[in-house]
Amino acid sequence: MDMKQIEMPEQKRIALIAHDNMKQDLLDWTQKNLNTLRQHQLYATGTTGHLLENSLQIPITKLISGPLGGDQQIGAMLTEQKIDIIVFFWDPFEPMPHDPDVKALLRVAAVWNVAVACSRSSADFMISSPLLSQKHPYSVPDYESYLQKRLNKP
Ligand code: PGA
Repeated sequence: MDMKQIEMPEQKRIALIAHDNMKQDLLDWTQKNLNTLRQHQLYATGTTGHLLENSLQIPITKLISGPLGGDQQIGAMLTEQKIDIIVFFWDPFEPMPHDPDVKALLRVAAVWNVAVACSRSSADFMISSPLLSQKHPYSVPDYESYLQKRLNKP
């Protein structure tokens, strides 16, 4: 895959998602990191977003609820470099009905080289990284070149 260099902005676009049994964990984590999070643009799936907005009293762009396609809305944003970071507290003890959505989102995140934290510990490392508040060059698939190669296939 041909890649191209682009730059993440200083102010990151962070997507927050938690499955039901993990929502309290995400509420605790975001509360603890509120001063940092408020410097960035926050997005969330529907229910998670409403709970976080009530608890944190900061604006969050709320997408549709996860089971109705919110995870996939975030996935689509990744393909357009509209999200830089995902904090996704998915529930390892409740595979169904979430597994296909988890897999789809993690796959697209890997394709587009997006930073994902799936546990509180990885989220702690991510939020304390000096890169969080800096412009950050990174590479994403070069779609034009990918498409040309496919179109030129015999
Ligand atoms: P929710 O979606 O924030 O609407 O609960 C999360 C999910 O289940 O993926």
